Amino acid sequence: MFLDRDGTLNVEKGYVHSPEEWEWIPGAVEALRRFNRRGFKIVVLSNQSGIARGYFGAADVERLHAWVVDELARRDAKVDAFYFCPHGPGDGCECRKPKPGMLLRAARDLGLDLSRSWMIGDHASDVGAARAAGVKPLFVLTGHGAEERPRLPEGTVVMADISEACERIEKDLIY
Ligand SMILES: [Mg+2]
Ligand SMILES: [Zn+2]
Repeated sequence: MFLDRDGTLNVEKGYVHSPEEWEWIPGAVEALRRFNRRGFKIVVLSNQSGIARGYFGAADVERLHAWVVDELARRDAKVDAFYFCPHGPGDGCECRKPKPGMLLRAARDLGLDLSRSWMIGDHASDVGAARAAGVKPLFVLTGHGAEERPRLPEGTVVMADISEACERIEKDLIY
């Protein structure tokens, strides 16, 4: 299960990089717990161009992610791995979504089957990265979802939030 971070797991506030700014989207922790119980590996992938822009450092992002791991452990949930792209839009890297670099790297690192994976996100670039990697995209209307929706490829599955996405994925697994 590939998940975008800002606007999908935590409330989009623009360049979130400290625990004080972190606010869970309602139902997100429960959705993670349910994915954990289903046996999904959870990989969070985010574009963090705030690093390239000089707003904060990679170490701040690492510290925030370590804090999120601790928070989740207290609530009986876990993320298996975090990946982030530190580059800016003009840097021409292979990791900034909609490029599939982070998904491909995670699949190699963790031995994931991309054809049996999903990617949930609130940006057209999340959908683009998923499609480029051969992963099934699910778009959510939290975060920038409402503004991004017109940019989606036709036929993209749209859900209210990660809770609904979780329910939908569980149904598809069962039926
Ligand atoms: Mg996002
Ligand atoms: Zn990058």
